[in-house]
Amino acid sequence: MKPEQSLIFELSRPGRAAYSLPECDVPAEEGLDTLIPAELLRSEPAVLPEVSEVDVIRHYTALSRRNFGVDNGFYPLGSCTMKYNPKINEDVARFPGFAKIHPYQPEESIQGALELMHTLQSDLAALTGMDAVSLQPAAGAHGEWTGLMMIRAYHEARGEVRTKVIVPDSSHGTNPASASAAGLTTVTIPSNEQGMVDLEALKQAVGSDTAALMLTNPSTLGLFETQIVEIARIVHEAGGLLYYDGANSNAIMGITRPGDMGFDVVHLNLHKTMSTPHGGGGPGAGPVGVKAKLAPFLPGPTVAKTEDGGFKLQAGGPQSIGRVKAYYGNFGILVRAYTYIRTYGPDGLREVSENAVLNANYMLSRLAPHFEVPYPGICKHEFVLSGKNLKPYGIRTLDVAKRLLDFGYHPPTVYFPLNVEECIMIEPTETESKETLDGFIDTMIRIVQESKETPEIVLNAPHTTEISRLDETQAARKPVLNCSCG
Ligand SMILES: *Cc1c(COP(=O)(O)O)cnc(C)c1O
Repeated sequence: MKPEQSLIFELSRPGRAAYSLPECDVPAEEGLDTLIPAELLRSEPAVLPEVSEVDVIRHYTALSRRNFGVDNGFYPLGSCTMKYNPKINEDVARFPGFAKIHPYQPEESIQGALELMHTLQSDLAALTGMDAVSLQPAAGAHGEWTGLMMIRAYHEARGEVRTKVIVPDSSHGTNPASASAAGLTTVTIPSNEQGMVDLEALKQAVGSDTAALMLTNPSTLGLFETQIVEIARIVHEAGGLLYYDGANSNAIMGITRPGDMGFDVVHLNLHKTMSTPHGGGGPGAGPVGVKAKLAPFLPGPTVAKTEDGGFKLQAGGPQSIGRVKAYYGNFGILVRAYTYIRTYGPDGLREVSENAVLNANYMLSRLAPHFEVPYPGICKHEFVLSGKNLKPYGIRTLDVAKRLLDFGYHPPTVYFPLNVEECIMIEPTETESKETLDGFIDTMIRIVQESKETPEIVLNAPHTTEISRLDETQAARKPVLNCSCG
């Protein structure tokens, strides 16, 4: 093992340290044991690696190199992909006037931050076709839950008992989970042959107990629901509302709006569509937008203009569902989204969407001859393939994903949506060059050929990574989560 690959405990030598501190000049008798109860104090020193400063730096740098991100290479994960994270947005989020303000500072001293939030509220309302926006929720799923709680409160305020949320079988896993967290139950309806909402199934499912239909359009299959106006009519006529999952809005910005399609509530994932590097669960921001009839239920605080042209925080609507987050949302992410929107402007945002759709269609048309395509035709910002055609060679989609690692690619999303067998879901995003797309496509085609000619190479992949193929069952049943040495 090369020294830089060693684990930090193996580098440990008694007495070696990465720091040197001056002699302690605080009298010992005023120390810890009088302030902290004895049972909370350690009796033995913690077992920590004893290493030099350079060892620590090399250890963490080596770990960071084992990580993969959009700054290392192509990351075509469908649906939840890392999209464009311009570095300028990181700079702006770190401006001291934004990064160093305190949530309890007087409003007069944070007018710039409040103006930014106010502008972002109206930009997001304009972009989604909604009447009011709350920037509070801290993630997409949090936005979903907030939206559903407002829908619940809306029906309750009208004296109606409505507890069912209808979701299509291609829906993102957070949709039914959020419904359940909001105290509602989900009813799943199947997609039709074309991957669209089955109107007959929808008509069967709606009724006087329907609280809402949750949908994303384009769907997670990358398809635009052409019958959306009819879908909205069916749900509204039954007294239900329409929830739009806008986690990935790259296909529609500046082209169409959930509000115009008939949706009543929408959340956006600022950390997907509008920059902010995210991974491992955060950080995020999932603002919700609502039509006027739901505005009274919005969580506070929101930002309003004062009579003298300044900005102030105000409580939520008169029938607010209450606070959903401490303070004012994940402010740093709001700054990045604001910068993203201002940098592009309306025409630029439309161009983002056009190029996202163009890139996806280019990839789909070149990959189509080599995989099964469950829903042929034009896709939006992403598309799904099926690896079913490789089954006769003993190769599954999982093997293709593992083999891609050998070529330095992050694999696409696999086995989601659940309604496509051996599913491979690809979202290239708008920022990738034709050369990058071609490189990935050629690699996928090469893996298809290998699957037919030398399947063992694919079955045993990855070969070039730090750790080769894991035993999936053991990894799930008996995970080793800590360093077993020392
Ligand atoms: C990512 C995603 C979500 C959930 O967003 P989080 O910020 O991870 O909670 C919901 N719906 C869709 C379609 C998504 O892609």
